[in-house]
Parts: sequence; structure tokens; C-alpha cells
Amino acid sequence: MAKRSLADLASAFEQKTTSGGGDQNWKKFFNFWKAPTDSTSVVRFLPDLDEDNPMGFLVENLTHELVVNGKREKVACLRMYGEDCPICALSQKYYDEKDPDHNEALGKKYYRKKSYIGQVLVLETPVEHDAEQLVKLIDFGPAVFNQIQAAFKSGDLEEPPYELKGGYNFRIKKTKSGEYASYTTSNFSPKQTDVADDVIEAIELYDLKTFRTPKTSREQLETLLIADQTGASVPSGDDAAPAPAKARPAAAAPAPAAEDAAPAPAADGTKKLSVVEQLRLRQAQKAAAADAE
Ligand SMILES: [Zn+2]
Repeated sequence: MAKRSLADLASAFEQKTTSGGGDQNWKKFFNFWKAPTDSTSVVRFLPDLDEDNPMGFLVENLTHELVVNGKREKVACLRMYGEDCPICALSQKYYDEKDPDHNEALGKKYYRKKSYIGQVLVLETPVEHDAEQLVKLIDFGPAVFNQIQAAFKSGDLEEPPYELKGGYNFRIKKTKSGEYASYTTSNFSPKQTDVADDVIEAIELYDLKTFRTPKTSREQLETLLIADQTGASVPSGDDAAPAPAKARPAAAAPAPAAEDAAPAPAADGTKKLSVVEQLRLRQAQKAAAADAE
């Protein structure tokens, strides 16, 4: 295969920054996985701006990896958007022992990958990061998620961990298992703590679902899938770029009424606005003010 010239690369990167608008997003992420082995990063999960998020502070991201034009490309699993997914169907077919094309390796290759997106305050870490950016996104796999799930099951949490007052810091511990990084000893700190008021004042929450891998049209997905299977090339550029889900919902609905804003599982029916609700309200008001300009 021909090596890419510097000019090709330059134009590829050009496209990256100009298409879609969501491509600046990588800067917003905290790359905890860059930490050295046997180190710990301490973060505080923050609630999702979207109060309808049933998980409160995490969203699932389902993707497939295809090889197109010799490059690995991540595409959204259409099931994440409530549709049948042709790549999932293909994976299932390969896994099916009764199918003449039965092939475990290919079943695995096309199987969807799950990760979770949250937002955090980075409190301690050996990883270099932009301290100016207070709230960072984080994207991790099932290993870390399982630790979070275990904490919920244990019954040790007195409050949702993302509560700004009385929540829990999370310690991402990187160790090694064989040749791979392992995060299976990560856990919540046993002590409940408060986020300082001046920090809360500066927090701007993200709507997590808008950071999931954008939906690719079914037609485009099928083209990419065929390219992956046959090695056929796909014209790159705007046509081939997965169409980013347009119309990012204008940062939250109008100010939520205090009455119906109680999605937290542990809500005990207090009428006073929680810190989280105040944060959401403040941001909705800001967004409304910005729209009015
Ligand atoms: Zn799928």
C-alpha cells in the first residue's frame, strides 16, 4: 500500500477539524489510560445535564470497528439509536454454529463494543491535562463500569456518587494483568465528600448523549461494511464521513419545574432544589439568555 504523503495527511487532518464540528471533542476528554502502571487518578463524577438520563451520570456508547481504506474506523451501532443494526446482524450470523459461514473470529470482529461516557472533575492524576478545563469527559470500558456497578450492588453508597454534596470520589487504579492494562481494582473512595462551593459555581455540565458516536446513515453504514468485507475503497471526504447527528439539542429544555425534577433514585421528596438541580437550572437560564441575544 502506498504511504500517505504529508500533503494527504494534512488534508485528512484538515477535514477532521472542519467536518461536523464535533471533532474538537477529543480535547474535552480526560485520558486516564495514559497514566503509568500502578498509579491512581482520582476523579469526581458529575451528574448528566440531561435529567432524563436513567443512569444519572453515565451514558452507553455502542460502536463497531470496521477497516475502511486500510484504516480502522469506528461507527455507531444503530441499535444505540433504536434501529436494527446490519453489523450486529452480521456478527450474529458468524456466531451461529448452524450457519454455513460460521466463524467465531469474524463474529467477534463485528460484535459491538460497549463503552461508557461520563463527565468528571479531575482531582489527582499523574496524567498531564488542561487544568483550565474544569469539567472533562471520560470514556471507559466495561472493566471500570463493572466496578461502579459493584459499588451500587454493595449497598455501601449512602448517596448517588455524583452528588456534589455527600457524593464519592472515584479512584481509577491502573495495574497490569499480563500484557494488558487493568482497572479492576478501581473503586469509590469510602468517604463521602463535598465539592467546594466555588468549584460548583464554575461547573458547566455536558449533555452526555451528545458525545456518543454520531449516527451514520444505514446506507453509508452498508457501504462501509461492504468496503470492510471486500477491501473496496470508499471515497473519503464529506460524503464518506459519518454524518454527525445534527441538531444538538439546545442545551437542555427550558428551566425544569422544581416539582418534576427528581430523577435521582435516592430522592427523598425534599422540596428544596438540590445542588444538581440548581446547576441545571442555572445552565438552562444561561442557555436561554444566550438564545435571546
Ligand atoms: Zn450494531
